[in-house]
Amino acid sequence: MSIKNRTKIKEALNSTELNRTITVKGWVRTRRGNKKIAFIALNDGSTINNIQVVADVPSFPDELLRHITTGASVSVTGKLAPSVGSGQNVEIHAENIELYGSADPASYPLQKKGHSLEFLREIAHLRPRTNTFGAIFRIRHTMSYAIHKYFNDKGFFYLHTPIITGSDAEGAGEMFRVTTLDMMNPPRTEDGKINYREDFFGKETNLTVSGQLEGELGALALSDIYTFGPTFRAENSNTPRHLAEFWMIEPEMAFYDINDNMDLAEDFLKFLTEFALGHCYDDLLFLNNMYDKELLDRLKSVTSTDFKRITYTEAIDILSSSGVKFEFPNSWGSDLQSEHERYLVERHFKKPVIITGYPKDIKAFYMKQNDDGKTVRAMDVLFPRIGEIVGGSQREDELLKLETRIKELGLPEKDLKWYLDTRRFGSVPHSGFGLGFERMMLFITGMSNIRDVMPFPRTPKNAEF
Ligand code: ATP
Ligand code: MN
Repeated sequence: MSIKNRTKIKEALNSTELNRTITVKGWVRTRRGNKKIAFIALNDGSTINNIQVVADVPSFPDELLRHITTGASVSVTGKLAPSVGSGQNVEIHAENIELYGSADPASYPLQKKGHSLEFLREIAHLRPRTNTFGAIFRIRHTMSYAIHKYFNDKGFFYLHTPIITGSDAEGAGEMFRVTTLDMMNPPRTEDGKINYREDFFGKETNLTVSGQLEGELGALALSDIYTFGPTFRAENSNTPRHLAEFWMIEPEMAFYDINDNMDLAEDFLKFLTEFALGHCYDDLLFLNNMYDKELLDRLKSVTSTDFKRITYTEAIDILSSSGVKFEFPNSWGSDLQSEHERYLVERHFKKPVIITGYPKDIKAFYMKQNDDGKTVRAMDVLFPRIGEIVGGSQREDELLKLETRIKELGLPEKDLKWYLDTRRFGSVPHSGFGLGFERMMLFITGMSNIRDVMPFPRTPKNAEF
């Protein structure tokens, strides 16, 4: 049901009850016809499909029809009738048309079909009205819902971790500062540094790069929690896979070891992919036909294949013996670049890959150390076309090892006191991971630039809209 007798176009198109009068409201996509009859394709965003409105031209005032052009907004009341020519089963025979707002054809930017994605990024305020972005944003909504459903059904609790953080243990150098100090005339300490004691929170604060550390506090009480919120990274990486503001899903589970963690990540990614295929088929089919003919096949293959699990050392061996000349050469100890990750996934194994046992020096301080003294129980999930989609680990649960590592790395120990308390009081083995929501959206939609799966993307030198 809907407000004031308005029927959403999705519901109207699925209707089997014909010859009744309904009202639909939306934006005109196209109008064609002649002096006697007009065919108006109307879309209200509820579905990628338009409903065809058929209007008998002489029964409507010229002054009204003149404004029924691409982009105009209207309310149409009329009979729902079987359709032969519109590509849909039903159409509306207009009895009354009301114009909300016209859209001057001389200046409305979305006139012709086939605008480039680059151009549409410049008009991000209007691009939701295109088929492509309507599809992407409907899928984005459905995926958000699926994430909550997945964890709720498994007994996880949604924990809201802070967006403003006072700890910079994780993202030193990559964080956005939050301050209310006067930039032109900040208070100074005696040695000339900025005096953050006078700032809003009485200390330096930043936007969070991850909710994990606080997520662990939740898991060590509620057992299984997840976060799903915005995260911010001031890394100056202008790539098709990085945003300065993105959304991350971070489950954290008490009593999970690294294998349980991998099982959960694999099951979760398969669930989301299956959910998209089951609930967004019209939109995915459109994206498949328009941009990426292998999209649907790729999605189906991920739901039905076991992810390959290898160690970092095995990955390095495969890369070294591949004979491929990579832009960034690697050897044991160096981080994998996206070209290496994609080689393993797309060319070597031809399926998603989970890598564990990374050198401790290229991973975060909180990861559980293996007995070899060199590697940690990290796990990265690598996906076709994306590279790293999930990063996670079993966490170090031994107080002494964690303290030693914090000292080795010179991290601000006093800022981590609350974190270390979890290892001091009732510490348990636990694990978790982070899924970048927009990386998942890239995979699901087949889009190749992360700017096209975020409604209003923030990237270096760009915070428009
Ligand atoms: P990358 O090496 O690709 O920069 P990362 O190792 O910095 O990723 P993590 O800190 O492990 O990533 O973050 C967890 C997940 O968040 C990543 O697996 C990825 O899906 C996502 N992610 C990380 N940085 C970004 C970003 N700048 N924009 C969008 N998603 C991101
Ligand atoms: Mn990064």
